[in-house]
Amino acid sequence: MPEGPEIRRAADRIERALKGQTADGVFFAFDRLKPFEERLRGHRVEAIETRGKGLLIHFDNALSIYSHNQLYGRWYVRQAHSYPRTRRQLRLAVHNVNRSALLYSASDIEVLTPAQIARHPFMSRLGPDVVSARTDAVLAQICEERFARRQLGSLLLDQCFLAGVGNYLRSEILFAAGLHPKLRPVDCTADQLQSLAGAAVKLAQRSYRHGGVTCDLQIARQLKAEGQPRSRYRHWVFTRAGRPCRQCGTPVLATTVAGRRLNYCPVCQPFDA
Ligand SMILES: [Zn+2]
Repeated sequence: MPEGPEIRRAADRIERALKGQTADGVFFAFDRLKPFEERLRGHRVEAIETRGKGLLIHFDNALSIYSHNQLYGRWYVRQAHSYPRTRRQLRLAVHNVNRSALLYSASDIEVLTPAQIARHPFMSRLGPDVVSARTDAVLAQICEERFARRQLGSLLLDQCFLAGVGNYLRSEILFAAGLHPKLRPVDCTADQLQSLAGAAVKLAQRSYRHGGVTCDLQIARQLKAEGQPRSRYRHWVFTRAGRPCRQCGTPVLATTVAGRRLNYCPVCQPFDA
């Protein structure tokens, strides 16, 4: 599943195509949304917003199209009314004179008013968006009492904790902060919690700006220059089980937390409880 940085990059592409432009056509595949085709047509797109893994297209008549890609959704931005060759099903299209933004396969699509966004069952519970939040907002969230006794390995996948963190960011953030996945906020020192907040923001931003790379950029550049494929230089530990830790040389371990793969270094991320 794409994570916050990937969703924000998709949103940037959609924003370049739609923002400030009048939608001269809107298409919804689902019958329940068909009445909104007329209500949105002829209105200008004012902004594209991401909230974690959700995306909002705001129109100038106070209606917004909400979409969540889940596992299968995929956005395409094309010349107006030009469609990719794909077996996927078109679920949503927003056209203007120059461009079309097309969403395929996603089923989680709604049209919402500001009041409906405010009480939306998913969006209203999201934690700070890790791609756009400030470190102090993330730290304040980490320090909330309701999260204090939950293990970081599962807590980091909870979108109510930090929105936009998925599986690769989870492993990478814990490594960069030097924290074992079994630690809970209550087990950590103030410095460790500060490191966690800093790592979350820094790695999400790095991934957003550098095409999904979370590893140190100098290390990544060096490995790339040596001819290594992207899969070998992209991350610190994620998908690197059995390979030497980039900091200490210890083989990276693999485990499963909250049903999903997690990689970590037992030396750089000690657990002594
Ligand atoms: Zn290590």
